[in-house]
Amino acid sequence: MRGNGVRVLVVGAGIAGLAAARTLRAWGADVELVERSPTARVDGAGIYLPGNAIRALDDLGLATQVAARAVEIQRQRVSDHRGRSLMDLAVADVWRGVGPCLALHHADLHQVLLAGAKDVPIRWGGTVESIVDTDDHVRVTLSDGTRQGYDLVLGADGVHSSVRRLIFGAGAAARPTGQFARRFLARWPGTGPVWSVMVGRGSAFLTIPIGDGLVYVYCDGPLDAPRVPPRELLAGFAEPVPTVLDAAEEGMQSGPVEEVSLPRWSRGTTLLVGDAAHATSPNMAEGAAMALEDALVLADCLTAAGTIAGALRAFEERRRPRTEWVRAQTHRRDRSRSLPTPLRNLVLGKLGVKLFQTSYKPLRERP
Ligand SMILES: Cc1cc2nc3c(=O)[nH]c(=O)nc-3n(C[C@H](O)[C@H](O)[C@H](O)COP(=O)(O)OP(=O)(O)OC[C@H]3O[C@@H](n4cnc5c(N)ncnc54)[C@H](O)[C@@H]3O)c2cc1C
Repeated sequence: MRGNGVRVLVVGAGIAGLAAARTLRAWGADVELVERSPTARVDGAGIYLPGNAIRALDDLGLATQVAARAVEIQRQRVSDHRGRSLMDLAVADVWRGVGPCLALHHADLHQVLLAGAKDVPIRWGGTVESIVDTDDHVRVTLSDGTRQGYDLVLGADGVHSSVRRLIFGAGAAARPTGQFARRFLARWPGTGPVWSVMVGRGSAFLTIPIGDGLVYVYCDGPLDAPRVPPRELLAGFAEPVPTVLDAAEEGMQSGPVEEVSLPRWSRGTTLLVGDAAHATSPNMAEGAAMALEDALVLADCLTAAGTIAGALRAFEERRRPRTEWVRAQTHRRDRSRSLPTPLRNLVLGKLGVKLFQTSYKPLRERP
């Protein structure tokens, strides 16, 4: 099917929405975007992109621009809270032949994706108020009162998607995974191009260099962690934790980690993509990759199918096994947190590299 004359509304100018706007424009559709935020801005201090995310960015024609702003991560290290090494892996080898692993400021990734969708008009500071299916199109009312018909509506509006609520009701809400996460940037020289996590009992502290002398820090703990200041939560963690906490820049972001699991992703010709459809815990760092792959696979399915409805069915069939694999792996990693510390350390020390490689193996294949 050709995209010419197909009217598409994308809700949400995040990773999934901007990538889909680009692929659907390239398919020939008339694409419009509506974004709740009044300006181009993102939550999330830094972001780590494994090889399959970079391959997807390459397919979008944007990998070079992202690489120019990023640090290439070579190793992943896991140690216990005292700093004793449990696993040290050449992560570049795991993704060899797929793509490099890059880390950068989330806002830089956003800028590249925005530039990549520059010929798509964006209504900033708006949202969708209602979505009504008619026989041959979707009638949408926006928050500024505009009413318009579209052939395809994409809910790319993240983990707390309004589109999801409008088409599936409040019962389809995101669920807490049981963790509370904090993210911030710190000015700290770091230890080279290394993704490095220290794991304690029920909490973890991760640093990833993103360039310009900054590290992106992710630290999590149990759901009651918001009541506990980070210094207290991480008491007993060895260096560099105290030093990095001292070096934290303004603007710590925090919130419960949530996931989305739905029996289907579309109603009529309204489809959910990215976190709106399949958010998971970030412990696989696969959220951006899944959002970017969604955009590429959707354009593929639309090109191959005879109707939009047929394309959405094909999309879901193709994407579900992969996103469910990622969710299952995140659950497995989450469960390992509750193992008694000596057992967890033994498993990570003896089997960590193997488990890590296995968990990413299917994602080396093209989506
Ligand atoms: C703590 C944490 C750390 C993470 N770390 C990583 C990582 O290192 N690597 C990685 O790959 N992934 C990571 N992720 C996951 C990743 O951020 C998401 O998977 C990814 O951002 C999903 O992209 P998206 O476009 O679907 O959603 P989002 O990036 O959330 O974008 C949604 C967009 O929709 C807009 N929006 C929301 N509601 C509305 C509305 N009603 N109307 C209009 N617009 C709306 C939002 O403003 C936003 O611009 C992390 C997640 C968390 C919580």
